[in-house]
Amino acid sequence: LGKNLTKTMKKLAGMTIIDEEVVKEVIKDIQRALIQSDVNIKLVLNLSKTIEDRALNEEPPKGVTAKEHVIKIVYDELVHLLGDKAKEVEIDKKPYKILFVGLQGSGKTTTIGKMGRYLQKKGFNPAIICTDTWRPAAYEQLRQLTESLNLSLYGDPDNQDALDLARKGLNEFKKQDLIIVDTAGRHKEEKDLLDEMEQISAVVEPDEVMLVIDGTIGQQAREQALAFSKTTKIGSIVITKLDGSAKGGGALSAVSEIGAPIKFIGTGEKIEDLEAFDPERFISRLLGMGDIKSLIERAEEIAEEDVDAEAMDAMLSGKFTLKDMYSQFEMMNKMGPMQQVMNLLPGMGNKLPKNASQVTEEKLGKYKILMDSMTEEELAHPEIIKQSRVKRIARGAGMRNEDVKELLKYYQVTKKAIKGFGKRKMNGPLGQMMR
Ligand code: GDP
Ligand code: MG
Repeated sequence: LGKNLTKTMKKLAGMTIIDEEVVKEVIKDIQRALIQSDVNIKLVLNLSKTIEDRALNEEPPKGVTAKEHVIKIVYDELVHLLGDKAKEVEIDKKPYKILFVGLQGSGKTTTIGKMGRYLQKKGFNPAIICTDTWRPAAYEQLRQLTESLNLSLYGDPDNQDALDLARKGLNEFKKQDLIIVDTAGRHKEEKDLLDEMEQISAVVEPDEVMLVIDGTIGQQAREQALAFSKTTKIGSIVITKLDGSAKGGGALSAVSEIGAPIKFIGTGEKIEDLEAFDPERFISRLLGMGDIKSLIERAEEIAEEDVDAEAMDAMLSGKFTLKDMYSQFEMMNKMGPMQQVMNLLPGMGNKLPKNASQVTEEKLGKYKILMDSMTEEELAHPEIIKQSRVKRIARGAGMRNEDVKELLKYYQVTKKAIKGFGKRKMNGPLGQMMR
């Protein structure tokens, strides 16, 4: 899924004109990628319709190009598909009881080990209760896991009564801050399994029921989640085995219907292969644009700040003065590492003067002092600055002639680069600065 979406976004980023045709093509690519990942067809169609409507009808915010806007819409809608904001486990009482449910083989016991360690790192001391009386080696599996993590475990391989095990375990761990109850997830009949979950839930009185679903089953995850949610209120979901599963998108998007957030994803068999699930981060990564969100946000912020319109007009018409350069650098610096911003704009990455990305605050400060000792005339018409003026400016600023020359050199290079930008008719936050 990631590969295809990254390709689509790269393609989009490489387009010069964003029109209806391009939008439709992008949407087709996204549809293909999502369907391949087993996302439900109805969800895919709804999503594409929303993206299309927004992309074709919404006016991009000031300072954002049509292209950036489409990228952001795609990003927004995919994040929405996966539940918007990240939700954490909030342990707000003692003992906080988490009941793990899910079919056998979905990854409950493995995830409990991972969670145990995750919560341990957060300063909790989780204790685990084994109520799996179906799998002969269930207790042994947990014993090894908890021993290596130094966690408390309650279980009894000779006791075949899951409810009794739950009761006794809870009694033993009354004073712990956190209790995690593992269950079997297997019965001869599905109905018996669900009944057992209901009964265990009644005994444990969990603060949070965590449903574990195998991510390789794709959109079937929906039915599974619905079946479990009928027996007990599901508080959160873990989707496992997303490492190497081609159907991850299907499982992740399918569970939205039961109204419980995905809090973790499993990405491997090892103890550290657990990730707190954050739709925004997940989608950014999936789209292969790690920083797109923060870049767009920054661009939006800057667009809202006062942009010196007069200076921009002057620049576009080819008048680019030292003063313009200074205010432009200030704005660019606000956007963060300039190279990063430029890299996002196709073909721009290497158009920038080599060291422009290193215009540090320090340099800006130096340039400002130099400019302060220039006359208005010099600032507006830098070409009149000849040797004698260089000397005077350097003396006035308490710097060397070389410093003045460096500034002038810099100005020349930048002016040239900006001329190039202007020709490309950029509309983004950078183009805005030049308009
Ligand atoms: P349970 O029956 O629900 O307790 O499932 P287990 O925890 O015993 O896991 C069943 C199998 O899935 C084991 O072989 C695990 O190693 C494997 N497994 C669990 N989570 C993941 C995961 O995130 N990625 C991969 N690749 N395998 C996993
Ligand atoms: Mg198990």
